[in-house]
Amino acid sequence: MKRRDFLKLSAGASLALAGLRLRSEGLFRKAYAAEAGGEELPGSLGAKEVPSVCEMCFWRCPIVAKVKHGKVVKIEGNPKSPTNGRGDKARVCARGNSGVKLLYDPDRVLHPLKRVGERGEGKFVKISWDEALDEVAYNLKKVKEKYGPHAIAYFDHGASAEALREVFKALGTENYSNEPAFFQCVGPVAVAYISSLGYLTSGTMQYTDMANAKAMLLVGSHIGENVHVSHVMSFVDGLSKGAKLVVVDPRFSVAAGKADLWLPIRPGTDTALLLAWINYVIEHDLYDKEFVSKYCEGFEILKKKVKGWTLEKAARICDLPKDKIEEAIKILAAARPHVLIHPGRHSAWYGKGDVYRHQALAILAALFGSVGTPGGLYFPTHVPLAPVSCVREIKPRSSDTPLKEKYPFSGPIPGSPTHEIIKATLTGKPYPIKAWGICGVNILQTIPNPYQTMEAIKKLDFIFSFEILPTETALWSDIVLPDTVYLERYDDVYVYDGLPECYVTVRQPAVEPLGEARTPLWVAKQLAHRLGFEIFFTENETDIINDKLRALNVTLKDLQEQGGIITLPAKGAYDRENFRNVFGEKGFKVNLAVEDFEDEDFSPVPVFEPTPAPPKGFARLIYGRVPVHTFSRTMNNEWLHHEWPENHAWINDEVAAKLGIKDGDEIVFENQDGKRSLPVKAKVTPGIRPDCIFLPHGFGSLSQKLRRAYRKGASDQFLITHYVQDPFMGASSHRTSFVRIVKDGKVLDIPELRPLPPEIPRFKLAAAGMMGGQCEKMMKKKKHHKRMTIEGC
Ligand code: SF4
Repeated sequence: MKRRDFLKLSAGASLALAGLRLRSEGLFRKAYAAEAGGEELPGSLGAKEVPSVCEMCFWRCPIVAKVKHGKVVKIEGNPKSPTNGRGDKARVCARGNSGVKLLYDPDRVLHPLKRVGERGEGKFVKISWDEALDEVAYNLKKVKEKYGPHAIAYFDHGASAEALREVFKALGTENYSNEPAFFQCVGPVAVAYISSLGYLTSGTMQYTDMANAKAMLLVGSHIGENVHVSHVMSFVDGLSKGAKLVVVDPRFSVAAGKADLWLPIRPGTDTALLLAWINYVIEHDLYDKEFVSKYCEGFEILKKKVKGWTLEKAARICDLPKDKIEEAIKILAAARPHVLIHPGRHSAWYGKGDVYRHQALAILAALFGSVGTPGGLYFPTHVPLAPVSCVREIKPRSSDTPLKEKYPFSGPIPGSPTHEIIKATLTGKPYPIKAWGICGVNILQTIPNPYQTMEAIKKLDFIFSFEILPTETALWSDIVLPDTVYLERYDDVYVYDGLPECYVTVRQPAVEPLGEARTPLWVAKQLAHRLGFEIFFTENETDIINDKLRALNVTLKDLQEQGGIITLPAKGAYDRENFRNVFGEKGFKVNLAVEDFEDEDFSPVPVFEPTPAPPKGFARLIYGRVPVHTFSRTMNNEWLHHEWPENHAWINDEVAAKLGIKDGDEIVFENQDGKRSLPVKAKVTPGIRPDCIFLPHGFGSLSQKLRRAYRKGASDQFLITHYVQDPFMGASSHRTSFVRIVKDGKVLDIPELRPLPPEIPRFKLAAAGMMGGQCEKMMKKKKHHKRMTIEGC
């Protein structure tokens, strides 16, 4: 990055607590008596306990895996965790419990596979690791020799991906894409907060003191649906202590259900609302003058630029009552500085304007003086770990890699924007991309316009995946390498550097890998060797862990003996004077107007860039999470599938009445490019705006090899075929596709119940869908492609 340059605690956790109570009440007395006598104890009693770190989502909760007869039988929260509840209050969420069922999923990929049918058809034969690795190395070498290093691309996500990324870097390509973590998620919020506040507080680094907030603002953030245990606990703690809550969301989310004020905003107008609030705060002297004069730069520029943003104007654009907008800002201002303006996480919504939205949130927090403050945003503690890499040498990168050049804030760490890689693969411009490696991510269920992605894959000479499950993307691969589940391997040392206490922990194996699954380091080393790069200096993961821990004067053994967690005091959470920004500069400073943006021809202060409204007859497709699933990754999990096997589509009750749709009716969606969804049941509710349809994300798998998840519910991703790339860093939008309803074979136009203000243009149907249209024709021609498409396409 250039500067200048919930509430639903898991059934399992409850059962764990219940178990402890029963134990103390003596109901298991017989079983415990048996502990001495050697009789088999029931359930997980008497199991070996292995502390580790959950990877059922990215939040990394400390866990204890219980192992009996060589099998993981239960997963619980680590009782030493300062964040997930200590002792018998240690918690994991439903997904955390269900890691057992990922480990023993009968559909797991457990052997190297080679494609024998067409790409996407799902026909593979088992091959040996030697054959598989030779084939991958041969093809990567061949592409590099013929087209250059930049012709190789890598899509990665999660802990597994890191070792293999070093191999791609050594090949000389910068075309690796941290996807979906950056380019489909936190890219805009990262640019906004680092540029404004000098540090990032989003993703896994969420320095939000909700537990001590007197008021909180959530803009499109679905805490309680996107369950991350410690985050939800902090949120609930704050609410239970009386914090007021304002939720801005087109949908009555779980969080909205807890709010003092829910503002069902017109999608795409959040920045208009925030600009009006900023102006109101300045004009009504509701800002923290001492904080602004001491820490902020650019106040006068900001003041001038937001002038004119009245509450009336925002009310009209945002389709909200003016008095409610005013009530909300008064609630927030009254709590300053102990007000938590939540930065959110997933921010790649509309392409244009996403950075400005998050910049406006950061500015509002600064005006309230709620940065480096209890109940607001706080600063992370610096926890020293030795700067250790597992690689000895990385070859110089190709200089001919301009894919990110047009995005001045697309930093070197996350690589190249996902859609730039896909477009170059399709068009051969600015140069051909001919080989893809994929690790830890099902790109067909995470990147907008999967039809375009499939078209790109068809152009490749070679594609391989390193995967746990036979996802859609794995079915499109030439070689599939079996990855380990997190319960089968060591990963990195993990640091939690927030409140109330910091800790250091490590992911470690509870059991040996099943089948022929191999660890990421083993695979990366084998591949590197075949490619002629002896870049890995370490024999095993534990060497790296011990090297990293050395700075703390502890070893892996110490950590293991201390229950898998070493706690450290949090320091400097509110210390603005000694704060160091991400560039290492000491002292806290807020840029209310960002010069770096201006230098790159962007506005230094947030501006409202309206996103086109739905075309006539369509509603905007919005999506979100359900608390028991992590995207498409957990849909095949037996326990989680049992809890939530398919999604329902939220439809406004007035719209449904006009269309004759009743709750539970089976419907299909058709998007602006004519793409149709699988059938899904309607959830008719007043809890969503009439111009929106909501689909929980991750359902509707199209991989016939995922036997539980296959065709259960409808995939929002396969309806998101129109995207806009963020001009700052190239992230691609997810809320710029539109749908109408098909019922009993009849296409139903969605009535427009909320007229548009003149400031908001309407989406032009003809402008979108070129790739989708081409793909559709091809799919009709080829039988095997029908397996990877959706009814009606
Ligand atoms: S929030 Fe749940 S799934 Fe995510 S890491 Fe924690 S226990 Fe695991």
